[in-house]
Amino acid sequence: MSAKKWIYAFGGGTSEGSKELKPILGGKGAGLHEMAKLGVPVPAGFTIITEACKAYDENNNKMPAEILEDVWPALAHVEELIGKRFGDPQNPLLISVRSGAAMSMPGMMDTILNLGLNDESVEGLAKISNNERFAWDSYRRFISMFGEIALDIEHKNFEKALTSLKEKKKVKLDTELTTEDMKELVRIYKEIYQNTIGFSFPNEPRKQLEMAIDAVLRSWNNNRAVVYRKINDIKGLLGTAVNVQAMVFGNMGNTSGTGVAFSRDPSTGDNILLGEFLMNAQGEDVVAGIRTPNRISDLEKIMPECYKQFIGIVHTLEQHYKDMQDVEFTIQEGKLYLLQCRNGKRGTAAALKIAVDLVSEGLITKEQAIKRIEPNSLNQLLHPQPDPLSLEKAKLLGKGLAASPGAACGQLVFTAEAAKNWVADGKKVILVRLETSPEDIEGMDVAQGILTCRGGLTSHAAVVCRGMGRCCVAGWEGIEEIDEDKKYFKVKGVVYKEGDWMTIIGTTGQVFEGKVNLVEPEVTSGSFKILMEWADSIRKLKIRTNADTPKDAQTALKFGAEGIGLCRTEHMFFKGERIHAMREMILSSDLAGRKKALEKLLVFQKEDFKGLFEAMKGRPVTIRLLDPPLHEFLPTDDEEIKALGKDMNVEFDRLKNKIQELHEVNPMLGHRGCRLGISYPEISEMQTRAILEAAAETGALPEIMVPLVGFRKELQHQKEVVFRIAEEISKKHGKPIKFLFGTMIEVPRGALCADEIALDAEFFSFGTNDLTQMGCGLSRDDAGKFLKTYVEMGILEKDPFAVLDRDGVGQLMKIAIQKGRATRPDMKIGICGEHGGEPSSIEFCHMIGLNYVSCSPYRVPIARLAAAHAALDHPFPLV
Ligand code: ADP
Ligand code: MG
Ligand code: MG
Repeated sequence: MSAKKWIYAFGGGTSEGSKELKPILGGKGAGLHEMAKLGVPVPAGFTIITEACKAYDENNNKMPAEILEDVWPALAHVEELIGKRFGDPQNPLLISVRSGAAMSMPGMMDTILNLGLNDESVEGLAKISNNERFAWDSYRRFISMFGEIALDIEHKNFEKALTSLKEKKKVKLDTELTTEDMKELVRIYKEIYQNTIGFSFPNEPRKQLEMAIDAVLRSWNNNRAVVYRKINDIKGLLGTAVNVQAMVFGNMGNTSGTGVAFSRDPSTGDNILLGEFLMNAQGEDVVAGIRTPNRISDLEKIMPECYKQFIGIVHTLEQHYKDMQDVEFTIQEGKLYLLQCRNGKRGTAAALKIAVDLVSEGLITKEQAIKRIEPNSLNQLLHPQPDPLSLEKAKLLGKGLAASPGAACGQLVFTAEAAKNWVADGKKVILVRLETSPEDIEGMDVAQGILTCRGGLTSHAAVVCRGMGRCCVAGWEGIEEIDEDKKYFKVKGVVYKEGDWMTIIGTTGQVFEGKVNLVEPEVTSGSFKILMEWADSIRKLKIRTNADTPKDAQTALKFGAEGIGLCRTEHMFFKGERIHAMREMILSSDLAGRKKALEKLLVFQKEDFKGLFEAMKGRPVTIRLLDPPLHEFLPTDDEEIKALGKDMNVEFDRLKNKIQELHEVNPMLGHRGCRLGISYPEISEMQTRAILEAAAETGALPEIMVPLVGFRKELQHQKEVVFRIAEEISKKHGKPIKFLFGTMIEVPRGALCADEIALDAEFFSFGTNDLTQMGCGLSRDDAGKFLKTYVEMGILEKDPFAVLDRDGVGQLMKIAIQKGRATRPDMKIGICGEHGGEPSSIEFCHMIGLNYVSCSPYRVPIARLAAAHAALDHPFPLV
């Protein structure tokens, strides 16, 4: 025995591990150990810990001798429990070698079944089981799995051999093949070894086991596992554990079978057992979609005792784990075994319902329920659903299984590769596959939705899509013919080709020809509403939205926004004829000309603000004065300049010169923000007038916000302008017009001198886009290219424009808060940069004592939930 404990045993009603040891045993291992402890029937076995993966890497991709040394006594223990010997030609112990990391990565790593068989023991197995076909079926399965996984022989070699034998025998299903056919397959499969890798199938069981363990450890770094971890942002795991476990056989005839089940419906969350099984089948048969499986409820008729026992176990597991369970089981000649349990993956709608139900069932607390929902996952629900009217008119082609909720509309593609290429060209695609496999993962990630012809609710496509929040219709049997190479499928005699439009509804399983309008979801009822209200009662941060129009504001209100944290006024200068007045203003050579143009804009802006204030019904609305560099408003091509010149009665050349004068080498650090309002106070005057007139007429309490302040004097200048106009309007209306006056903190100098700036600002709002840009010295418009490499190289952990850089930019924020509140203790401080809708940044905002975050309307629910998570995780924030 080596000094370190590399191996943990389970079985015989006990185990050395437990669910708490998941990081060491991996998810699958920890589940097996826990089930064994609970007395659930689990075939005996042992787990080689995840650290072995690291040891394997460090040992130049070889299994360290120290670990292998411990494998044999552990195996001997299993032999004892089962009463069979590994490699025994008369009565062989067969085992499975299964991967499983601490985080579930469905189908990402490899499993080998029936290991230990060879030319002698297959005869022994046939005799002792009195079932020759079963023995040879197991053997041929083992040879092909072992070849694929341990020796990298391509799956299609075996698949082709199987298909052509079935064709030759004129049968459709594997189960229709005879013992002689199985023997024939074994012979052909062995030839494949010779023809592809040039050496023969290893007959020695111990050698087989060594190679299999080696393959599982190696699989941690195979391409699809690496891509999966990358897409799902899984970092910091040690590796995969290796589970070696005695086989039980679902392929022993009509009282045997294998299946998978969820304790609740993973699409809706309904509290009903949902699952599928196949009689006389083994392992992957159900998930691989080889035959269309039976519903779990049918098991009640076929094997009532087994079914009853199964229901009981699933219930026990759910109560024990206090969460919905996803289990895998096998029945061997009427005897039930559990082979896996885990907290089941589910769509977001289901996750909400389950969390809320578990609270009312008394299994978990509200706080736990809140913590179970990943804020970003709400995205799935906030996404469009099919418009019922448009749906009525659409041509329904058929119905598959409702595998992952949502709706998707796009052009058909038939390979993951094509999906990637089309999407790179800016298109939306529906990826259609006979069935998906882990190789398709990148294509699935970019597609709007996935449609498969084979496989059930637990097929690869279904499981992966639910995890990704991708809409999926699986097992659509309406497809009469599909050719992925020739890129078409046929339904009721009609051919649909690559590029044709299709709409799929993952919530119902329906497939429609052509485009269907997708509409905004209803998020104001049911579990969503309940959980959100719980979150609201816990969070400390207020949630506002960034909205420029009444429509955005209404969307945000529906999602629970409590105010507007940023109204950008730029767009008010672009729409329709306004841009014309704006250009006139910019290009006028004197104040009189500018004022004339601004008069025109005032009318529009006032109406816009009124609309916004009315939509917000008295909630706070922060309005930022004009921010972008002027040249963004100017025409660039000569035709437009000519037309403008004509209208303004200015010659083309003069106008063009003027435009060139406005050109800046580095506009983001140039003539923008408050610098504009200082050069052209009449712009700030006009905007203030529009805001306050609208406020006077609607009774709103606006917050006027000056952008890009770095020096107190800048703010003082604008303050003078704003307050002068305010007084004028107050006089006009014969009552004081109330408003708040504040500034953005987005220039590092502004953050550092916040104590001075606070003398004139009643509130701060962090513009973390600019603060990151200037704080890190990274151009937001140009850094994209190398930032990706930075993240890949580990120079940066995350893109600081996506996730707030706590150590750097965050420090500037802390300084600004501390200094600002030193001057003005009750100062209201928020954030309106992109980060305001990103969960980890929201957590930070909570920790440093902000009053609110503001984000885009669609992120409001995410922010509400993220703020509740932050409050639960940090009940006593630092500041
Ligand atoms: P995955 O991680 O892809 O789910 P598993 O290790 O769970 O891979 O193996 C896949 C399937 O193989 C299981 O669901 C089960 O049906 C079958 N299997 C694994 N180990 C055994 C075993 N010891 N006896 C019988 N079947 C097994
Ligand atoms: Mg499994
Ligand atoms: Mg800015």
